[in-house]
Amino acid sequence: MSTPLGPAAALRRIAFLLERAREPTHRVAAFRTAAAVVDALPEGELDRRIRTRTLTDLRGIGPKTGAAIVQAHAGDVPEYLARLEESHAELVPLADDVAEFRSALRGDLHTHSDWSDGGSPIREMAEAAISLGHEYMALTDHSPRLTVANGLTTQRLERQLDVVAELNEELGPFRILTGIECDINVDGSLDQTDELLGRLDVVVASVHSDLRAESAAMTERMLAAVANPHTDVLGHCTGRLLIPREQREGRRQRPRPESAFDAEAVFSACVEHGTAVEINSRPERLDPPLRLLALAVELGCQFAIDTDAHAPGQLDWQGNGCERAVETGVDVDRVVNTWTADELLDWTVG
Ligand SMILES: [Zn+2]
Ligand SMILES: [Zn+2]
Repeated sequence: MSTPLGPAAALRRIAFLLERAREPTHRVAAFRTAAAVVDALPEGELDRRIRTRTLTDLRGIGPKTGAAIVQAHAGDVPEYLARLEESHAELVPLADDVAEFRSALRGDLHTHSDWSDGGSPIREMAEAAISLGHEYMALTDHSPRLTVANGLTTQRLERQLDVVAELNEELGPFRILTGIECDINVDGSLDQTDELLGRLDVVVASVHSDLRAESAAMTERMLAAVANPHTDVLGHCTGRLLIPREQREGRRQRPRPESAFDAEAVFSACVEHGTAVEINSRPERLDPPLRLLALAVELGCQFAIDTDAHAPGQLDWQGNGCERAVETGVDVDRVVNTWTADELLDWTVG
């Protein structure tokens, strides 16, 4: 880093690096909470607290976060941050061909904010995307039916569109694309009104329920969603979970196998209807599995390499997807998020 960050930005950077390294969420949250505390202090209060050594009296600031604040406030890079930057620079370096593939990505088409089950405000997600050098990020919070993930009703999504428009004024040329991760209902319809889906830039359609349905039913369901003119990306197609994962309010999800469906039929329909197959980069998903990804390549699909980030640090996970894309011979030009925002929008509207 060239110029040292201010205290709140330094704390967020630490959170970002911890998250990327898959550290436990409570450690990450401590730094993000402290950043919010610093942000909320009235003018001059941080100075006073540091002078009087009463920083850690504030709720949400402990010895570690406090030390980082003091050092950043003095214009230094906090020691803790410096150490992280150093150790994590070498964290699982990408092979050259994977790194090159990754550098072609201009954005991410699957991200969540605290409007649904993500952990951070839209602005923080966008700022993290900007710091990664991205040109755009599709904000794809969950749809109404997914109540466990605080899915957005039509009214809330409409409000979100206004919020995104305001943020875009401020953050340009970076662009938050409006979007949704829309549940594919059991009958194959999408879980949001046609009118609203038509107004969104990016629609990721995913199956989140009835994952153990028999193959014929699941295939029908997915075919209908892929053929829906609003659908742009087919999200995490098999729904598998490789490792247990923590969810909001301490719920834990157990690993689960792939859903059964006729992948050849579904991917062929993706080609026919211009729906991109998502390469989901979340470590517990890595979906589709390699054999299905190879099949999608063979059938001539387009792809979106997405993080499905639920927190800012997770926006850095695209390397996982790129690794798999390189391994299966995905042509970089067939990855829709290597395109410019304008090219992408021509495609999603068309
Ligand atoms: Zn999903
Ligand atoms: Zn998602």
